[in-house]
Amino acid sequence: MNNPDNSAVLIDPKALLNSLHAGVVVHGPDTRILYANPRALEILRLTLDQAFGKDAFDPGWRFVDEHRQVLAPEEYPVNRVLASGQPITNQVGGIMDGSSNQVTWVLVNAYPERDEEGTLTRVVVTFIDITSEKRDIPFEQIIAHARDAVVVTEAHPLNGEGPRIVYVNAAFTDLSGYTAEEVIGRSPRLLQGPNTDPETCRRIGQALRNHSPIREQLINYTKDGREYWVDLNIFPLHNRRGEVNYFAAIERDITVQKLREHTLIAQAITDPLTGLLNRRGFLEGAQEIYHAWRDHQVVALAMIDIDFFKQINDHYGHPLGDQVLIHLAQLLRTSFRKSDVIGRFGGEEFAVFLPGASLEHAKLLMDNFRQRLASTPCQLSDGQSLGITVSIGIAGAPGSQLSLTQLIKIADRSLYMAKHSGRNCVRIAESAAGDLSLSARLSSSDPGQVESRDRAGFQGS
Ligand code: GH3
Ligand code: MG
Ligand code: MG
Repeated sequence: MNNPDNSAVLIDPKALLNSLHAGVVVHGPDTRILYANPRALEILRLTLDQAFGKDAFDPGWRFVDEHRQVLAPEEYPVNRVLASGQPITNQVGGIMDGSSNQVTWVLVNAYPERDEEGTLTRVVVTFIDITSEKRDIPFEQIIAHARDAVVVTEAHPLNGEGPRIVYVNAAFTDLSGYTAEEVIGRSPRLLQGPNTDPETCRRIGQALRNHSPIREQLINYTKDGREYWVDLNIFPLHNRRGEVNYFAAIERDITVQKLREHTLIAQAITDPLTGLLNRRGFLEGAQEIYHAWRDHQVVALAMIDIDFFKQINDHYGHPLGDQVLIHLAQLLRTSFRKSDVIGRFGGEEFAVFLPGASLEHAKLLMDNFRQRLASTPCQLSDGQSLGITVSIGIAGAPGSQLSLTQLIKIADRSLYMAKHSGRNCVRIAESAAGDLSLSARLSSSDPGQVESRDRAGFQGS
């Protein structure tokens, strides 16, 4: 290089000012414009003729501060430099268009020039247009104030510990109970727990690996171990080169909604009087198990009907009749396995679905129940004690192809027969698959049959 000394490089100042991206305006000590480069004229929306000689007190100027407040002339940069003799550095201001009120935002610098005696002779004002930066919506502030939780993680690693959290907003810390410091650098798996569905997590993991967005509902846990439901909207964040560096998750707390859903579902399948499953709940519960069992296991179904219940109502009144129903439900609840499905099928008719029970076993269970009921009278609220009996009809499907509906029909017919055999007994109707013409069978060793001949019905104290 021939010119190692930078200052020796000759620059054409006029060419430089003409091509400069920044606006440059030179004011005289009386604030009149002595010079404005093309970019300054463009930003100020003036022709050279309009600009030349115009002073800072011209009523045509409308400068505003950062908050769009119109400035008084003495607050204009040139006047402040003249008044203070000091430069102004990086001040944000706006030039308002007289007709449209649109503001061109500028970053202003200004400095005084002095002659050899030190007298201020000129003020040079430079400014660059920052309108596009000013217009940028502050999304970080929006996210920080959003009511949905926002979590941003790195895009890697997806295996092992999982991606690290790099940002959480205030809604997240409110929801989870963790501070930002406690979760940043950790994996979102920190929020999962025993009831978090692994299948949902697997789907989320797969979507992340594919860089595809995904929406799921998931149970998370607060710092102190409380469960909450979130509706998760997870999506990859692309940089300008299209690479995925981060994932963002927007998480809406849907715990209340989920609880309401669960309550509504529970209400829809529960009998309010006894707390047992209602007909719908019984059918759904039994069907679900039957579907899983029927190919390789025996099942049995029993229909239980209180004997002469109408007379109980007539004699004691409907409210005490209700207490009998509650009493029977309580005995049913404590007489069978957890895997059995018990429901109040109708008014005073109950059903028990016994997966894995053969007809013989079901009959034994039902006779035991009948005996337990007989020896456990209902204590009515008015102090009376009331013994009741039931008639029970059983159907079985020993590896057969009967549907649940067919099983119920057979059990109903068996119950009908039990009633007609004198009540307080258990009856079994057998049917070949597809053949619903019933042959009721009365076991010769049927204790129910023996007892039923004694006495059926209610016996008050
Ligand atoms: P059977 O031995 O033939 O079964 O005679 P039953 O009197 O029990 O038979 P029926 O079906 O004629 O009577 C059932 C009664 O159950 C009639 C109805 O008023 C009563 N019932 C139905 N639902 C309720 C209820 O929720 N509470 C009360 N207290 N009674 C009910
Ligand atoms: Mg009855
Ligand atoms: Mg009935």
